[in-house]
Amino acid sequence: MNDMTFLDLGLPAGLVSVINKAGFTTPKPIQEQAIPVQLEGRDVLGIAQTGSGKTAAFGLPLITGLIAEGGRSLPKAPRGLVLAPTRELAVQIEETLRTFLRGSGLTTVLVFGGVPRRPQVNKLARGADIVVATPGRLKELLDTKCLTLAETRWLVLDEADRMLDMGFIRDVRRIVKATASNRRTALFSATMDPDVAELANGLLRDPVRIDVAPQGTTIEAIRQELLPTPGGSKRGRLANVLKGDDVTRAIVFTRTKRSADRVAKNLTTDGFAVAAIHGNKSQNARQSALRGFRDGKISVLVATDIAARGNDIPMISHVINYELPDEPDSYVHRIGRTGRNGATGAALTLFDPGERAKLKAIEKLIRKAIPLAEGEIELPQEDTKKSPDEGGRTKSRNRNRKPRRPSARSGRGRPARGQKRAEKGRAGAGSAPASMTPSV
Ligand code: AMP
Repeated sequence: MNDMTFLDLGLPAGLVSVINKAGFTTPKPIQEQAIPVQLEGRDVLGIAQTGSGKTAAFGLPLITGLIAEGGRSLPKAPRGLVLAPTRELAVQIEETLRTFLRGSGLTTVLVFGGVPRRPQVNKLARGADIVVATPGRLKELLDTKCLTLAETRWLVLDEADRMLDMGFIRDVRRIVKATASNRRTALFSATMDPDVAELANGLLRDPVRIDVAPQGTTIEAIRQELLPTPGGSKRGRLANVLKGDDVTRAIVFTRTKRSADRVAKNLTTDGFAVAAIHGNKSQNARQSALRGFRDGKISVLVATDIAARGNDIPMISHVINYELPDEPDSYVHRIGRTGRNGATGAALTLFDPGERAKLKAIEKLIRKAIPLAEGEIELPQEDTKKSPDEGGRTKSRNRNRKPRRPSARSGRGRPARGQKRAEKGRAGAGSAPASMTPSV
């Protein structure tokens, strides 16, 4: 149980009250670790995944610094700068920071390419305290003197590994050079390899290193796919999936204990070696199930989210979401059970269209759409009983695309270099994703 509050981390009461109202009451691990050291003025090197809570981890110290300093930034001379690789990420960061800035009188501006420059230039000219930008457009505006970074004393680089993958290194270096020499810098990256380390070395002064990435796994390394399956067909579908040649050890996640028991019973009837673990099982029963799973006597573990926490679950080939969790964080927890130690991991979701709201929340958290598996088509929302081959209409998701095999890094659209990076980042023994707060 985590009793820490944002006040304990040293943030000012006014700001804490604003973030509490926004639903941030308990700090996430990365926030607990990164906020106090930044408030002391230290640089930070953070190894953290999407969804770990890193926006608040760098945003709150930045805002605290601006509030403590008082006043407003001069026209064209922001005091805070956050660099992000993509427009989507920049939009999300800016939205979050704007929420935190409520009532402070401080302002933000978004700067990214592909849209007219004029509105961004005008906003900068009026004076913005924090710029959230992608590197390309920001460099352009810097070169054309639409802004100066001479007053920028708080600098954040988010998803630095992706910025490198996307070829932004020269723009980033140029931008960083233009910032104030007495700046404080925070750099976040999902993976740490020599390229990122070299960039960090050049930018950070005696940084505090904070690592909350799930050890030995990266979300990018896991093949995530949707298998549209109406609720009534999930039993048969699950059995078929589990019969796949590549399924060596699988965890099937259910939303409730009752469902876990039912699924385990059905699978046993269908001839699988199964055990269920959930909150109603005794510690002994859980230990014995895990032992059986580890020894290979049991090939399928059916679990609720609460039971699947902890470090003692061995390497598995497949995570199967029989039902999506209520809390999006739990999805990340679940899939982090596979793809460890360099093994290929697959996370398959038997998706009933009635679960669409949950899927959307998860996709928002992980900032990508989970693709349909090869040959799959989307089921209509209205009639979840009828599968398409029974005459149900099909709609949307990959509507204009031929069903295709998603890449090994499913739908991530990341260049080969990034894939290698993801692989490199997967060395080491597995442990629970420290960055997520499980829901149950
Ligand atoms: P981030 O990694 O910053 O994009 O955060 C991932 C998600 O977690 C976002 O939806 C945030 O709103 C949420 N979040 C981050 N920190 C907290 C917190 N301390 N309490 C509740 N939600 C949080």
